Amino acid sequence: MPSYKAPTRDTRFIINEVLKLEGYGNLPGFANVTPDIVDAVIEESGKFAAEVLAPLNASGDAEGCTRAADGSVTTPQGFKAAHGQFREAGWGTLSAPEEFGGQGMPHVLGFALEEYMSAANQAFAMYPGLTNGAVSALLAKGSPELQAKYLPKMIANEWLGTMNLTEPQCGTDLGLIRTKAEPQADGSFAVTGTKIFISAGEHDLTDNIIHLVLARLPDAPGGTKGISLFVVPKFLVGDDGSLGARNAVSCGAIEHKMGIHGNATCVMNYDGATGWLVGEENKGLAAMFIMMNAARLGVGIQGLAQAEAAYQNGAQYARERRQGRALTGPAEPGAPADTLLVHPDVRRMLMDAKAFTEGMRALALWCGLLVDVAHQAPSEEERDAADDLVGLLTPVIKGYGTDRGFATAVDMQQIWGGHGYIVENGMEQFVRDARIAMIYEGANGVQAMDLVGRKLALKGGRAIQAFFALVDAECASAKENEKLADVATRIEKANGELKAATMWFLQNAMANPNNAGAGATPYMQLTGIVALGLMWLRMAKASTESLAAGTSDTAFYEAKLTTARYFAERYAPDAGALRRKIEAGAEALMALPAEAFETA
Ligand SMILES: Cc1cc2nc3c(=O)[nH]c(=O)nc-3n(C[C@H](O)[C@H](O)[C@H](O)COP(=O)(O)OP(=O)(O)OC[C@H]3O[C@@H](n4cnc5c(N)ncnc54)[C@H](O)[C@@H]3O)c2cc1C
Repeated sequence: MPSYKAPTRDTRFIINEVLKLEGYGNLPGFANVTPDIVDAVIEESGKFAAEVLAPLNASGDAEGCTRAADGSVTTPQGFKAAHGQFREAGWGTLSAPEEFGGQGMPHVLGFALEEYMSAANQAFAMYPGLTNGAVSALLAKGSPELQAKYLPKMIANEWLGTMNLTEPQCGTDLGLIRTKAEPQADGSFAVTGTKIFISAGEHDLTDNIIHLVLARLPDAPGGTKGISLFVVPKFLVGDDGSLGARNAVSCGAIEHKMGIHGNATCVMNYDGATGWLVGEENKGLAAMFIMMNAARLGVGIQGLAQAEAAYQNGAQYARERRQGRALTGPAEPGAPADTLLVHPDVRRMLMDAKAFTEGMRALALWCGLLVDVAHQAPSEEERDAADDLVGLLTPVIKGYGTDRGFATAVDMQQIWGGHGYIVENGMEQFVRDARIAMIYEGANGVQAMDLVGRKLALKGGRAIQAFFALVDAECASAKENEKLADVATRIEKANGELKAATMWFLQNAMANPNNAGAGATPYMQLTGIVALGLMWLRMAKASTESLAAGTSDTAFYEAKLTTARYFAERYAPDAGALRRKIEAGAEALMALPAEAFETA
């Protein structure tokens, strides 16, 4: 049975020493967040994840969710009680606004909590996770009446939320949505249609479920310009907040799927269900994007989380399992064989995992801080600069984070050899659970296209130019410190490859848009490498400072410096190869006719 321990020491290092959260006391909500409070939130949320959620991960996977003939859905044993504990501890309120009953704490702390919960039990974490996304959309676009009616209960996790985009004929291409919304005399809408693959669409965790649903008004234009967003509660809610009649929305089936069995993936039937418009008519996609952006960061964190949980168990196994001898001669001559840890190829997988998870954690938490700065910084200039970076980094965190998260889970399974393939050992669950994060919330190829097709050009390329400048400036300053110079030189070089690839798109993608599509995924990976490189540079810098100040925890900081070197030596060189793939363009990739893909 796998084990999980929240990596709280690493999170505290990133928040306190790398991001230096104390320096942001000017932002609302940050003033009272002292290092003691940060430590308490991190330690307690880590404990909750490890002690309450992790023990339900394997059992929830084995049991799955069940749907009864009346359409009700039961979550695995223990989920309801665990959600009760989550709610009572107020974890759902952590970084929600105080106006609606939240604690108003920085998002960076909310992101740490999300990582721990997803690592301990991704299927469980998705129930409150989706609610966070629904809350973001209502906060940004809901009318004051809708906000007052739904937000306090959703933030308190008394009611959970869902997002309903997908239909059988409509996945990535939301312009194909058919679900209809007919205006009613009382200002509400009758929503009719079928949504599929709806996470947490029906369950027994809360009394009410608040669905956010994309649908079309009768006279709406075709395509994505004619989509509106509606809030459709499972039980209608009276003006005093009491639950009324059952709405005409029901779960028609739950999917049997590869992983996250503890999360109910539902076919949802809307049969003239009563809903209310969120935001403006035909502007639903913009509202849904607010929710999707929040959810995309959450899904990127799922990639990190599964990688971390798998890494902990891969590392533990490598320390205990004895097979073969070290290439340099027996490391433990008295034992029948050495541990797996002596083999460079096993080390490669462990170091790849360590370099990814620690780098990705820093990137996700930095992005969490940028979200706060984007919302709350006093000057518009600061807010815009942070918002630019969040926009640029979101598809990278989602796409690169989950691609590498899955690859890491597979590597950790590999360390377990044949035992990793055996269900009772639990390593294969990490692989199965990690896989979905590459698909939902916009498949990773679509994230790559969002990065290349939208984010690069936005506001005249302001975000990517700012990112280049940031990396260059931090590399230049780090090169003055001999302990950081080598890492900085290698990251600077990778940034040079990214700049060249960006320039290549500028010169070649207008003439042939397929050049952008063909290079999108390598470009996303290349951006991921540079972004993680920047994080490793910052972590190395913070570590040299702590070592110079005479820290007693030298092992922790020395390990950071070694891992930064490993990242610079073993990840950064891929930047050159990725750039060459991008510059190969679309010609050979698009050349074959459709018949060539038929087996002769
Ligand atoms: C377990 C699970 C939970 C889910 N939860 C939810 C949920 O809560 N709410 C919800 O609304 N949906 C949910 N989904 C649906 C999910 O978001 C979609 O499956 C996903 O967006 C992809 O849509 P699709 O499956 O129709 O694939 P398609 O759109 O048919 O795409 C197939 C492949 O083609 C690629 N592709 C398609 N179009 C393009 C393009 N223009 N450029 C480049 N590549 C392209 C995609 O990247 C993908 O790899 C869930 C799905 C699963 C399996």
